[in-house]
Amino acid sequence: MNCREPVTEDQSTSILVDKFGRRVTYVRISITDRCDFRCVYCMDEEMTFLPRAEILSLEEISAVARAFSELGVGKIRLTGGEPLIRKGVMSLVDEVGALPNLDELVLTTNGSQLTKLSSGLVSAGVKRINISLDSLKADRFLQLTRTGNLDTVLKGVDSAVAAGFKRIKLNAVILKGRNDDEIIDLVNYAREKEIDISFIEEMPLGNISSHDRAESYCSSDEILEIISQTYTLTSSSESTGGPSKYYTMADSNSRIGFISPHSHNFCGDCNRVRVTVEGRLLLCLGNEHSVDLKGVLREYPGDLTKLKKVIVDAMDLKPERHYFDNNADPQILRFMNTTGG
Ligand code: SAM
Ligand code: SF4
Repeated sequence: MNCREPVTEDQSTSILVDKFGRRVTYVRISITDRCDFRCVYCMDEEMTFLPRAEILSLEEISAVARAFSELGVGKIRLTGGEPLIRKGVMSLVDEVGALPNLDELVLTTNGSQLTKLSSGLVSAGVKRINISLDSLKADRFLQLTRTGNLDTVLKGVDSAVAAGFKRIKLNAVILKGRNDDEIIDLVNYAREKEIDISFIEEMPLGNISSHDRAESYCSSDEILEIISQTYTLTSSSESTGGPSKYYTMADSNSRIGFISPHSHNFCGDCNRVRVTVEGRLLLCLGNEHSVDLKGVLREYPGDLTKLKKVIVDAMDLKPERHYFDNNADPQILRFMNTTGG
């Protein structure tokens, strides 16, 4: 179940270093922009998805993953959109999971397909999984996801616990006036299942029509304050190699994480890059600096040396930090689903 493995300092031998001296050891790959949900903070109700020819094929994604692992990147996250609805996803997971230099293959999912796929993912070497869950009330879950079925996702969480992932973490985006009254219920659920939970501050990615992000914004500090009224939290220096800041509770193995892109800028030790569903290497979630890998993959098919050179050169473009502002018009017009959230 949720065994507390020691979290070690980054020992990566990655040769990818940006001009601020940050070593890139972690890549998130969006393997589809499509999704069976339409979460209100992530997508509009009506979405137009990319034509198949514009998105990377599974073979191209596999080549990108191999190139990064050969450059010393130890951690790859498959995400989307909903990664587990991409046709052929399990063969991709098998291939990436078998890369010899990879320390960790991890995945972010909305949980809708987990009852079918949890045990296959564990067999393919997926060690950690993040499952998004913003509400434990069926009607509200449907409102927030617009199409999601809570019961299916909760069964998915149970199947993930039974399948034996090394760690399972819930991701919750808290929106004021919509689900901020469920913070303690979500923590209690994580404690009951002996899994972790992270609270993510909403980011202004893409234009959405369902709510005003400035009004719904709920900071990590506000959430921390609410949880502290029920549980004594101890700040932890543990890291899972991502942006979460963790707290522990004396009477539980569950950890509580906060991902705070607004209130606690974490760019100083950013170790991540993303590959969008169209094969753009994105150097920062909050900026548009990117390099086209799809063009390289299609112009020089099978030439991993060429691909690796483009990735190495791209490191110079990684900006120092992001500037998010929920009160302004979004500077970043791409939605999270294309980006590899
Ligand atoms: N479909 C999968 C899922 O929902 O877990 C993977 C992709 S989703 C884009 C990855 C994570 O991004 C989810 O935990 C989701 O809650 C979060 N997310 C999406 N849009 C966001 C936004 N505008 N601000 C903050 N988090 C967001
Ligand atoms: Fe789909 Fe995940 Fe975005 Fe929700 S957050 S719409 S599940 S991609």
